[in-house]
Amino acid sequence: MWCMHPGAAPSSTKSGRASAALAALALTAGCTLLGACRSEPTKPANVVLITVDTLRADRLSPYGYKIDTEAIADLAARGIVYEKAFADTSWTLPSLSSVMTGTYPSVHGVRSWNDILGDEQQTLAELLKATGYATAAIVGSYPLDRYFGFAQGFDHYDDEMTRSLFADSEAKTTGIPEAPSDGSDQARNEWRLLREKSNAYRTDSEVADTAIAWLERNRQEPMFLWVHFFGPHEKGKRIDVEAEQKKAQLDAQIARYDPDVEEMDRQVGRLLAALRADPRYPNTAVLFHSDHGQSLKEHGLFGHGFDLYDTSVHVPLIVRLPHDRDAGERVSRLVRNLDIFATILELAGVDAPGERASRSLLAENPDAENHAYLETHAVLAFSARKVPVGDRERNIGQVLRGTRTDDFKLISREPFLAGGEDPDDPLPDTYLESNTALQLFDHRSDREEKKNVASDLPDETAQLRKLLDTHDAGHGESGGDSGELSESARERLRSLGYDP
Ligand SMILES: [Zn+2]
Repeated sequence: MWCMHPGAAPSSTKSGRASAALAALALTAGCTLLGACRSEPTKPANVVLITVDTLRADRLSPYGYKIDTEAIADLAARGIVYEKAFADTSWTLPSLSSVMTGTYPSVHGVRSWNDILGDEQQTLAELLKATGYATAAIVGSYPLDRYFGFAQGFDHYDDEMTRSLFADSEAKTTGIPEAPSDGSDQARNEWRLLREKSNAYRTDSEVADTAIAWLERNRQEPMFLWVHFFGPHEKGKRIDVEAEQKKAQLDAQIARYDPDVEEMDRQVGRLLAALRADPRYPNTAVLFHSDHGQSLKEHGLFGHGFDLYDTSVHVPLIVRLPHDRDAGERVSRLVRNLDIFATILELAGVDAPGERASRSLLAENPDAENHAYLETHAVLAFSARKVPVGDRERNIGQVLRGTRTDDFKLISREPFLAGGEDPDDPLPDTYLESNTALQLFDHRSDREEKKNVASDLPDETAQLRKLLDTHDAGHGESGGDSGELSESARERLRSLGYDP
């Protein structure tokens, strides 16, 4: 599969800022590689996927940040940096379900709090295992517990956690709560809370130790190893703080983001060093990315999952190809996290089964259509309430959908049918239309997404809205009221550490 793409070095489709010199160097390397490929049978690449939770692209030095994240910068020098990579949604479960299936949440079905990646989904690990890959995953937080369906296709799935998410000793519980057997929302919510109090995550150093030990113990080829670090995800909160201490706690959480990024960089660096010392390394692809970003008080928000601003969805994506092919290249076209799926299958020489949204990052001719579709349903359950629609009451909440192009971002906060409602009995279009709130941001002049220009630029707004609607037809059945959160929903979000 490699040999079919030797010219990818200075490819016209990679409209990045790679210098001519770098491009020429990469071309030379590609030709050498081509020669080698012609004389030797092609071996499928080993693949190591490194996911760091809650990591914003703009907090890493390869993306221009002031702090030198040395290990990630070194990886960037050996690989391809995708400057405009977007998570498909802004929280862990649906985001990584998209990566593992190459599909959007509307297809894999993991959208709300208690959804689980179903057995019927064909995952990356299953497809690789079927072609003879040794597959292993080491994950750093409980949302990736096997209970949620992520262990499918992995020979070895290590989801042992060691720490509570909370700093208060009274909030901690001991022992590992049994996963709920009845699958009701209430049972799952209770279990989630117990997990947060008992064994919610493990440190990045514990994740690195475990991954390195696996590499040392298992020498098979080809291999697919997925390593997930909890990284700068918020942790160590106290839940018993007085109202006046809440601001100080929030400031402390924000202040520890950069140090947590530096610690992640050290631990990812240890794993990368172990990989470089591994005899399999030359023919190993390393993909580094995040499942979503984090609002650090921008737009008055702290956290993730409940918005679609770039702070929450612009993620790092760096791909080190076998033999350092295309090293140092920078790609400026828009790409998506779910494209990782097709990329890894291409590296393994496996055809993706069925129609999937995922497109290989290494494609010679990427789609002309250059946009990312975004959504989050995290707020649906919290915003749901009974609302009169016509002559009856419907249970309606809100979801966010969005589309990002090079120049613009459209975010639509719109009604959606919540629990107990029949999706085949949709809301009237007139209701949807009058209860949808739109935001348009012009990235040519407003990279921080501060000014909503939806009414100033009606043509652009209409065009992007059309893109949204054609994207996910059959998805607009929903309800809410004015596009604002209810006070009870706000209260619930605050209790989760989000600041609506
Ligand atoms: Zn996450």
